[in-house]
Amino acid sequence: MKHSKIRSGGKSIRREVLIALALIVLTVASGFVIQLLLQLQAMRRSEEQAGLLMIDTLEEFDSFIWNEHAAHAAAAERLKELPQQKKQRHDDLQLDLLTIVSSASPLKEGYVPELATVVEEYQLDARCAALCWDMMQDCRAENAGFPMICSAYRTQEFQQELFDNKVIRVMQEKYCSVEEATVLAAEEVAFPGTSEHQLGLAADIIDETYPYLTEWQETTGTQRWLKEHAADYGFILRYPPESSNITGIIYEPWHYRYVGEKFAHEITNRGITLEEYVAWRRGR
Ligand SMILES: [Zn+2]
Repeated sequence: MKHSKIRSGGKSIRREVLIALALIVLTVASGFVIQLLLQLQAMRRSEEQAGLLMIDTLEEFDSFIWNEHAAHAAAAERLKELPQQKKQRHDDLQLDLLTIVSSASPLKEGYVPELATVVEEYQLDARCAALCWDMMQDCRAENAGFPMICSAYRTQEFQQELFDNKVIRVMQEKYCSVEEATVLAAEEVAFPGTSEHQLGLAADIIDETYPYLTEWQETTGTQRWLKEHAADYGFILRYPPESSNITGIIYEPWHYRYVGEKFAHEITNRGITLEEYVAWRRGR
């Protein structure tokens, strides 16, 4: 535009230079003005935006809080369900703790539980080994008795050995045949595959002051304490007095069986045997 004006005007160079300078100044000035206006506009916009942002932030804040609250409420709901699901699973797991092993209901062949050591060479199902130890320690701590374990998990081979030894002893005592001795031995020592000890859930606990497996064992401090507290650790007196017609086993004040705390309390409070409890559950 400037060149065309120079070409078309052509009267005075000074005048054209002045016009050109004026145009340049005008252009530059208008550029500044436009830039300034743009800057002002931008500032206003950013202020507006800042203002809007503040409102938005408050709304967002409320929304955030609400979402947080909703999230917390949802989480709380989930948490409420979680223990039930866990409890359910735990109970499901516990059902196998009610397994009856007896001459009428032999152990599944080849069954070997996951074992854990209670003390020294004595092992139990890993679910109750520590509880058995705690139970004995607490009995001691309360100066109630001097419990010691004298039998826990038994392998099929070990049960066979125990049984064979019993048969030999009976033969020596009664001067009877192997067949007769086998029948008599089975009254006191479980036939291999029918001992609860092979489940890994049973322990024979006696008092150090009276280390004998007789009914007199019930008078010891250990047995009196266990009778009262064993259920708190998930154990039951498995072969109570006057119940051999149900359990098939004589009264054994030393033989404790783990069934889990919930079932142990139910069985103990009702004063029934495991057989009766399982039958009651099936009939419900
Ligand atoms: Zn036993």
